[in-house]
Amino acid sequence: MSKRFWDLSSPNDMDFKRLSDRLDWSEDADNGLAENMGKLFELDRAQDREITNLRLMVEELMGELIRTGVVSEAELQARVSRRLMAEQKQTAAPSIRCASCGESTLQSETYFSSLGEVCAACFSG
Ligand SMILES: [Zn+2]
Repeated sequence: MSKRFWDLSSPNDMDFKRLSDRLDWSEDADNGLAENMGKLFELDRAQDREITNLRLMVEELMGELIRTGVVSEAELQARVSRRLMAEQKQTAAPSIRCASCGESTLQSETYFSSLGEVCAACFSG
């Protein structure tokens, strides 16, 4: 399948892969740090261009769908909101119920004890 115009107008997956791969590589600490900072900014600019391109395309497509009566703006907004909420729910940090006090705690902030996973307060108290 030939490339579509939107594939040509934005940095592609390979660009992102290349930039993020280079982040891992460093010779000595100071040079490596400065170099990695530069690469991070480069990656950030590439992602910024990609987001701008995607935003323009979405605006164009949504505008056309609404103008041609395929879907109303309210319906489109409701659908997007539902998708965003589902996405946020899926990517939310997992939480755990503390085995001691029962409080809900981010899993990354729990500690293992003889009771099981407990919150920081119960672990140090
Ligand atoms: Zn607790």
